[in-house]
Amino acid sequence: MNKNLYTSSYLDDLGDIMTIKIPDSMDEVVYWTTRKIGEGQIKAWAYREDCPECGKAKMGKPQGEKGNVKIRATYYECPLCKHTIDKKPYEDSLTAQIMYTCPKCKFKGETEVPYKRKKYQGVDSIVFSCGKCAEKIPITKKLKGIGEKD
Ligand SMILES: [Zn+2]
Ligand SMILES: [Zn+2]
Repeated sequence: MNKNLYTSSYLDDLGDIMTIKIPDSMDEVVYWTTRKIGEGQIKAWAYREDCPECGKAKMGKPQGEKGNVKIRATYYECPLCKHTIDKKPYEDSLTAQIMYTCPKCKFKGETEVPYKRKKYQGVDSIVFSCGKCAEKIPITKKLKGIGEKD
């Protein structure tokens, strides 16, 4: 698919629609969620990205002395050069990949949007639009549960 063919900003938002890939392991992502919204369904995730400093490793939550990952840390660290970035600017720079069934028109599609939460009806959400009917679909922030990635 040649994205230069697209001229409207709406289609540009769809980006590289063919490159979406479900992660093989939870180690590859900083975010993973599955939701049911009415009769629709959403799977969404955001891959960890390379260290902007050395470019040789994926940024991740820092590890403690025993090799345990500090899940509650408020920053990400490069395991090689130890470059750190605060959680928010790092996560805001990531891309969320989404596979969905639209709750309104039942269209099955894929899309990518910035992994950045906006207020949607007062709730922090990643919002995307259905590729067919343009319905705005929010992925609201869930309350944290034990062992959840969200
Ligand atoms: Zn690095
Ligand atoms: Zn739709």
